[in-house]
Amino acid sequence: MKKIQMVDLVSQYEKIKPEIDIKLAEVMNSAAYINGPEVKAFQKELEDYLGVKHVIPCANGTDALQIALMALGLEPGDEVITSDFTFAATVEVIKLLKLTPVLVDVDRDTFNISIDAIEKAITPQTKAIIPVHLFGQCANMDAVMDLAKKHNLYVVEDTAQAIGAKYTSKDGTVNSAGCIGDVGTTSFFPSKNLGCFGDGGTIFTNNDELAQVLRSIVNHGMGKRYYYDRVGVNSRLDSMQAAILRIKLRQLDSYIENRQRAAKYYSDFFSQIEGIEAPTIKPYSTHVFHQYTLKIKGINQFEAQEFMKEKGIPMMIYYPMPLHTQKAYDADKYNDADFPVTNELCQTVVSLPMHTELDEEQLVYITSSLKEFLTK
Ligand SMILES: *Cc1c(COP(=O)(O)O)cnc(C)c1O
Repeated sequence: MKKIQMVDLVSQYEKIKPEIDIKLAEVMNSAAYINGPEVKAFQKELEDYLGVKHVIPCANGTDALQIALMALGLEPGDEVITSDFTFAATVEVIKLLKLTPVLVDVDRDTFNISIDAIEKAITPQTKAIIPVHLFGQCANMDAVMDLAKKHNLYVVEDTAQAIGAKYTSKDGTVNSAGCIGDVGTTSFFPSKNLGCFGDGGTIFTNNDELAQVLRSIVNHGMGKRYYYDRVGVNSRLDSMQAAILRIKLRQLDSYIENRQRAAKYYSDFFSQIEGIEAPTIKPYSTHVFHQYTLKIKGINQFEAQEFMKEKGIPMMIYYPMPLHTQKAYDADKYNDADFPVTNELCQTVVSLPMHTELDEEQLVYITSSLKEFLTK
């Protein structure tokens, strides 16, 4: 059996190696390393794939979030509501810009931001909501957009884990994840669903004015060459990464299918076992399974991780500690009792190996090994 990894990027690369290697050599010979034709072409192809008007590439998914917030013209002290159960980058950028993060609890079935919790947290200082489409499934965007409209709030969608997911609104319209709010962001970190061979990210929007501001911010706040309209940053996707992403974008739908196939195998197996909850798939969103995350009642996650490791199976705990209890994110200001779901999730979740190259032999071994731990 092939060695089991959380993410098997080498096997994935091997299948597209000839194409990638030729393209990279071309970029090297062209010397158009920054903002070259590859970046422009990728931008256009991603706009077409997502069905969005503007794609603004940048250096990574964290920058994408920061730049999105900068473009909205928020002031220090403005409150931004986001999920307590996410990767730290989402809340980090809020604090970095001297805005006030307001963490709220999530829904147990989807791991995504709780609409009730958002509603309770809205104050006159609230200016924006950042729903995170965690593990590959969209948050309840109809409800988020309704609240945003009612309270005049911006919506920035953190789509780092859900590129390629589709959201069906209550009126039947289908949109790509990240293309419903004012701005969407994603990451091309190698292990993400559309990953490059280094760092990369992008921002997207259907708003022409906002797009212009975003393009200026990623390029030092420049408007016309050497005329600076605002303070910006330097955040670029380089040509090599863009060349790789162009090739991988053509595979994205088949990559997603592979992930969904592995997820289905896992779910068929684990839904037979008492005390284990497989991921819920909501009718409003497809699930692109950036992670496959089980909830297991009464589990000692670290013991399980150790047991699996002995068998050569990596297993991760995403995420082991709620953000509202983290020193960096004002743990003192929160009431722990407001986060029953995140608190529970952090003690019951385990994420299994999930990538595009999992084969049946590996899936059989992974599922039977975890079952062995649970029934021992
Ligand atoms: C990966 C990730 C980010 C950050 O992306 P980087 O490219 O690593 O900066 C932001 N938010 C979420 C939810 C992520 O999973």
